[in-house]
This record gives sequence, C-alpha cells and structure tokens, in this order.
Amino acid sequence: MSDPKAPESNEVREIRTNPIVPSESVLVATARSMRPKKAEELAPRDTRKHVETCPFCRGNEHKTPPLIMSWPAEGEWDIRMVENLYPVLGDDRSQSNFTFGLQQTIDGYGRHEVIIDHYEHGIAVHEMSASHLEALFGVYQTRMQQLFASDDRLKYVLIFKNFGPAAGASIPHTHSQVIAMPVVPENVDAEVKNSAEHFAKHHHCIFCALIDEALTFEATIYDRNSGAVRRKISVGQYVVERGEKFIAIKPFASRYEWEVHILPLAHQADFVDMREEDRADLARVMKRTMARLDAVIGGAQYNYFLHSVPHDAKRDAHTPSYHWHLEICPRTSIPTGFELGSGLFVNTVNPELAAERLRAVELDASE
Ligand SMILES: [Zn+2]
Ligand SMILES: [Zn+2]
Ligand SMILES: [Zn+2]
Repeated sequence: MSDPKAPESNEVREIRTNPIVPSESVLVATARSMRPKKAEELAPRDTRKHVETCPFCRGNEHKTPPLIMSWPAEGEWDIRMVENLYPVLGDDRSQSNFTFGLQQTIDGYGRHEVIIDHYEHGIAVHEMSASHLEALFGVYQTRMQQLFASDDRLKYVLIFKNFGPAAGASIPHTHSQVIAMPVVPENVDAEVKNSAEHFAKHHHCIFCALIDEALTFEATIYDRNSGAVRRKISVGQYVVERGEKFIAIKPFASRYEWEVHILPLAHQADFVDMREEDRADLARVMKRTMARLDAVIGGAQYNYFLHSVPHDAKRDAHTPSYHWHLEICPRTSIPTGFELGSGLFVNTVNPELAAERLRAVELDASE
C-alpha cells in the first residue's frame, strides 16, 4: 500500500531535536547546496606505513617527549603513550584563569597526553586487527583509571582521536589524545544532567530506552483526515552494527552525515568499569563500524571521543542514569556561515538512509 502524496522516504527537510540534549538541534536538509565544500575537496590523509622523519614511527623513540607506558610492556612496542609536546593543560600552577572550552575559565591544571595507537604510520582503525583494537581500548581504560586515582582534583578524562587533516589532526601518524581536567566539559555535563532528569521522571536510563527502541520499535504515522499511511518509521533501521555486548547506532538527530555512536547494550555509566572480557566485542563492533564508514565515505576522516560518567561528587548519583558511549563523527564537509551563525548543525543526508547504506556494506563475517 503506497500513498502517492507521501513524501519520498529519502527527501527530508526538518529540524530534529537530540532526545538526550533537547537544546541541541539539527536541520536535516537533503539540499546539498547548503554546503559548498564537499568531501572530495578535502585534503587526503597520509597512508604511508613508515616515515623516517616521523617522531611517532618505530626507531624514532628518542624524538618523542617522555614515555608514560608502552604495550606490550616488554619487547617491541605496538602502542606507545607519551606526554604531549604542546599540552593545553599542564602542571604549571602559574597559568591561572586559563580558558578551556565554552565560557569556562579554569585553572590550567590537568594532563595532556598522546597515545600512539599503532606502530604503522598511516593505518586506519578498520585496518587494525581486532586484537590490536582490544589492546588499545585496554590502554584507554588503564590510563583513565590511573589518572583518576592519581589526583582527586581531576573530574573528567577526555579520550579522543582526530584522524586525517579534515578532522584537525596535526600529526599524520595515527594517534589518540588524553586530556584530564579539573572540570566537566559542558556537553558531557548537559548529557549527564538531562539523563538524570529523565531518570527522575521515568525511572530508567534514556540511553537504555533508545537502545531498546532501536531494537524493537516500529511506528506508522497515519494521515489524520484520510487515514492513509503517511510515513512508516522502523526505528530498527538506526542499528548499524550489533555485537553480543555492544551496538552501533545512527542517531536520529545526527549532527554529521555519517555520525555513529557505539554503546554497551547492558547499562554501564563508567567506561572504566567495562569488563576485560567485553573488550573483544567492543573491538569487533568498532572495527566493523569503521569498515562500513570507510567503504561508504571512501577514506573516512573523523573525530571520535568517549563520553563517560564524570568522577565528581555526583558520580554515584549519576551511575543509574548515565550510559557511557563512543561518538564517531566523520568529517565530510566543512561548516559554513549558516552553521556558525545559527548554531544549528546541517545534515544533508537523511539519517535513516545513511544507516541503510552503512548496513548494506558487505563485510567478511570472520572480521
Ligand atoms: Zn609515523
Ligand atoms: Zn543505560
Ligand atoms: Zn555523548
């Protein structure tokens, strides 16, 4: 049964509100003219395996700032963690009133570290082995734990990765960054506060509810006058990849065309609490999601970051309502004056269609 007056499923022009942070909205508009600079014009990433002059390549260890840890601990390293040469936060107590992030003036105290994710210079995440990714998530977890334990002034540890020049990576060798700070970033704070409010009203975690909805819910919207089907929404269509313990979802109000979030299926507030035996599934879901993104975009350049419950005085109170997750934001276009001026993100690909295209990528089942 099809209604000729129903809008084409791939034609969308609407404002969508982030269910977790309602103050954030996105204009989903498939008219590409909204954005002049397309992905094809973005600078390509460095795909070389080894670069003699790169301080992060094997054999140039003496060129990096002091070592924090390496993995494996013995023998040749696969993952290496060092201090940042140009830290945005440091031990220097004299840098008071340092401005970090949105309108927050804080003491410049904190830590800024670099994780050399892989010994291979230009390797992409989907090209890394699942066991390597498992170890990388283990390094993230260990360092987060160590930093929180080292100083109770640290309230938040932000782990993120910029991959490719389009995502702002200044060093081409694949790496992640760790910033430990004495304040909670504003966007994390908004997620934490809103999910706590949702919990107070509905007695369940909003992230868990969104996962349940993604897995089960289907809705049909009927025309009130004629009774004809106007639109069918199968929320299951937002699932990009599903593992035993983790799920990759395309957010309904995606800010970026190919944005995908990965969450643990079972409720968990703190990334630090992820069990060691669950890391392999996270690695597999991550690898397969990144392979899908890379296949669809053709050489994905992206930012990803971890959002986990802050270690502040309210940590225990927020544990039932907050749910940690990894946000992957591929950069396929450059924000324009419209976005900067309105504060409204413009997404030119219908999220339902994007999820469908990502799911349709055929991957080797053994991966
Ligand atoms: Zn290198
Ligand atoms: Zn939850
Ligand atoms: Zn988040």
